[in-house]
Amino acid sequence: MAYKVAVFDAKPYDKDTFNKVNEVYGFELSFFKEHLDRSNVVLAGGADAVCIFVNANVDAYVIDKLCAMGVKLIALRCAGFNNVDIAYAAGKIKVVRVPEYSSHAIAEHTLALMLCLNRKVHRAFIRTRDWNFSLNGFMGFDMYGKTVGVIGTGKIGKTVIGVLKGLGMNILAYDLYPDHAFAEKNDIKYTSLDEIYANSDVITLHCPLTKETEYLICEESIAKMKDGVMLINTGRGKLIHTKHLIEGLISQKVGYAGLDVYEEEGAYFYEDCSDSVLTDDVLARLLSFNNVILTSHQAFFTQEAMGNIADTTFENISDFFAGKEIKNEVVYQAK
Ligand code: NAD
Repeated sequence: MAYKVAVFDAKPYDKDTFNKVNEVYGFELSFFKEHLDRSNVVLAGGADAVCIFVNANVDAYVIDKLCAMGVKLIALRCAGFNNVDIAYAAGKIKVVRVPEYSSHAIAEHTLALMLCLNRKVHRAFIRTRDWNFSLNGFMGFDMYGKTVGVIGTGKIGKTVIGVLKGLGMNILAYDLYPDHAFAEKNDIKYTSLDEIYANSDVITLHCPLTKETEYLICEESIAKMKDGVMLINTGRGKLIHTKHLIEGLISQKVGYAGLDVYEEEGAYFYEDCSDSVLTDDVLARLLSFNNVILTSHQAFFTQEAMGNIADTTFENISDFFAGKEIKNEVVYQAK
């Protein structure tokens, strides 16, 4: 019997990759363009599993509905699981995720944001197309010898460190659970958040969004940073208090911001909104700075990562229905 999987937030590139990888697994796939939430959970009726992405909103209501309709598994096709109420799901429905698909994809996008901001490539691209070959305002700085603070040294943070060491940058690292063996082997230093804020020319975020990390970057932490600091966020939008970041950009305390995520991204990211009026004033203000680069949660988006995401997602679903051990289950841990 072919198990039925309802794939939400399905774009043409998702369909292509999932259909191709599914040739091996043989699931019955239905694709829905919506990201799963209260308003459309009925679409999952008849499915054995739902496959969801970063902007789904799986709260208690959605979980109850899924269970009532006989859906047995929530398969996240991403690493982060902050958008599912894991505590409420415990004992009701299993949740799996893709913890690793290509830390290189995210690390390389992180580097792209840093270099583009520093050397103003986004502005030069536009300027030269207008036959303006002036360099005014484009002076950058050598990354070599500068200090970068890496917050979160899991799979992605460690890959970022490897890449930035290649540029000859000094690394300061912070993690709730420091990996001292990694630090020794790679000659990097774990330190406190305050030390990172005080000493880093560039700060890059690679920790998950949790109650502890929500608005980690806010008025208070920004005040402790070096003048003109470059902030990079390829983690999750709510790691940064966007209005406080905007204040920092206006006062020029923050010199550059490279953002692949935004706290209210669910309403816009992955959609073509070019025919509508932008009603989010915070996003509009953010997009008005020429020292801000915003990408639409695309750090993961490489051929290799997409293939690995589909493969691990189908393997998770397959293992679950085969009654095998599910190694990528998201298990609720009561504090
Ligand atoms: P990981 O689990 O391997 O690493 C996360 C690290 O953060 C761990 O070392 C953990 O100890 C640390 N951490 C947890 N709480 C912390 C805290 N309060 N302060 C500091 N460190 C803390 O995860 P990963 O694969 O490296 O991914 C990191 C994050 O990147 C994910 O949670 C996800 O939100 C984000 N991500 C974004 C994209 C994208 O396309 N932009 C893609 C994948 C992942």
